[in-house]
Amino acid sequence: MKILVTGGLGFIGSHTCVELISNQHQVVIVDNLVNSKPEVLDRIEKITGVRPVFFPVDVTEALALESVFAAHPHFDGVIHFAGLKAVGESVEKPIAYYYNNLVSTMVLAEACLSHHVNRFIFSSSATVYGDQPSPYREDMDLKTTSNPYGETKAVSERILSDVAKANPDFSATLLRYFNPVGAHPSGLLGEDPNGIPNNLMPFVSKVARRELPKLKIFGNDYPTPDGTGVRDYIHVVDLAKGHVKAVEKRTSGVSIYNLGTGKGISVMEIVKAYASVNDIDIPYEIAPRRSGDLASYYADATKAKDELGWEAELTLADMVRDAYHFETVSGK
Ligand code: UDP
Repeated sequence: MKILVTGGLGFIGSHTCVELISNQHQVVIVDNLVNSKPEVLDRIEKITGVRPVFFPVDVTEALALESVFAAHPHFDGVIHFAGLKAVGESVEKPIAYYYNNLVSTMVLAEACLSHHVNRFIFSSSATVYGDQPSPYREDMDLKTTSNPYGETKAVSERILSDVAKANPDFSATLLRYFNPVGAHPSGLLGEDPNGIPNNLMPFVSKVARRELPKLKIFGNDYPTPDGTGVRDYIHVVDLAKGHVKAVEKRTSGVSIYNLGTGKGISVMEIVKAYASVNDIDIPYEIAPRRSGDLASYYADATKAKDELGWEAELTLADMVRDAYHFETVSGK
């Protein structure tokens, strides 16, 4: 298949391009480089032996996007990763988040309709479930999310569902990610956020590298087994493989899949695993809870297994080993 991947140079996008190419698909990447680096293209080529076609285009710009569809008139599907993703920043810059993440979804969906590209895979998030008991199932009602980033995911899901309703040939697959971590085992691709990381695993990696002095664990008085927050961490390579299964599946209408492991892991378990697998000390202190954080959530991952034939295979040890390997080997 020939697949357009927006945000294909980002963390999840780049790993997905590798898996698509490894499964004999042809990839065209669009990325505005706002939170990614052009060298990622070289690294995808180094891993796969194939250099994907790349357009430095912003998906919110309809004319620029049109030039991509004009140059490549026969996409079999699109996978839409491009978007802003920092939860805290979204609270400070709501307009940037709503504008970027919603306009890009609409402009891309419009281009798909006019070019008869009927398979649209969307990068959504478990945050759309809001505050309700886990495990999260795809048929649960969605609750209000606690920040503009989460709202852009929920509203994009809604937009794509309405587009699918109005256009019977168009199918939308909404992939709700849990917490993607880890890196490509080659050490060539990984998560490389600008500035001080907000997310747990990249922060732990900076502490491991002694670029930051210690981790703050946000709360140890949650109603969880060890009192620290629980999430469903999933290795980014497993997540990427889920996209290949999703794009290859024939569907109509709207399909929704959780991409998680189905297993909750606490912050303390992450810290301990990172330290023991990599044989390195991770200094930490207990800090107050971070506002907006939920105590615990994880996926019911059975639907993706039953319908896509996909399930996460990599372990917590793989996640922390590959995350550290990327820090030490990538030369970034
Ligand atoms: N966390 C932490 N210290 C940090 C960053 C995160 O203790 O510096 C905790 C956070 O409170 C949550 C978990 O790690 O329980 C995952 O947070 P992250 O920001 O990675 O993902 P989220 O699930 O919040 O989107």
